[in-house]
Amino acid sequence: MSGTAVALVLNATYEPLCVVPGRRAAVLVLTEKAVPVSEGDGLLRSSSTLMVLPAVVRLTRFVRVPFRPHVTLTRRAVFARDGGRCVYCGHSASTIDHVLPRSRGGHHTWDNVVAACGRCNHVKADRMLTELGWRLRQPPTAPTGVAWRVLGHRTPDPRWLNWLGLPEQESA
Ligand SMILES: [Zn+2]
Repeated sequence: MSGTAVALVLNATYEPLCVVPGRRAAVLVLTEKAVPVSEGDGLLRSSSTLMVLPAVVRLTRFVRVPFRPHVTLTRRAVFARDGGRCVYCGHSASTIDHVLPRSRGGHHTWDNVVAACGRCNHVKADRMLTELGWRLRQPPTAPTGVAWRVLGHRTPDPRWLNWLGLPEQESA
């Protein structure tokens, strides 16, 4: 694994809170503010310490998190909500689609943006579902829950998935 190591921080109640640099997570463990849940890649070295950077840590004390009603609409978050699958045909998704096309007045909002495969996106183009005779299994909605603040911005480390409570991801 390349790049800077990062770790998922869980609240004392095991709810996901945020993602921090791996070194920061290690310091939380060393100062007994958190306990390691899952080991990651990389080592933290100092004059007195050598430890494996954690991939997941859990805070030893519960922190109250201000309620954040809005989950940022990003491509990653849409893919995560839709399980990485095309909402029209169920195959692996590679694009995002506006159910009501933007050219027809559709908005870039959670209730109009879905994950789609390239083929369906291409076939659908600027048409409405009714013109194609397509149907959605369920209308898209904005996701809720704390996991989403983690997911909007990055691909989750596989070691985090147990804690995020997500639909199974289709690997592209
Ligand atoms: Zn499709």
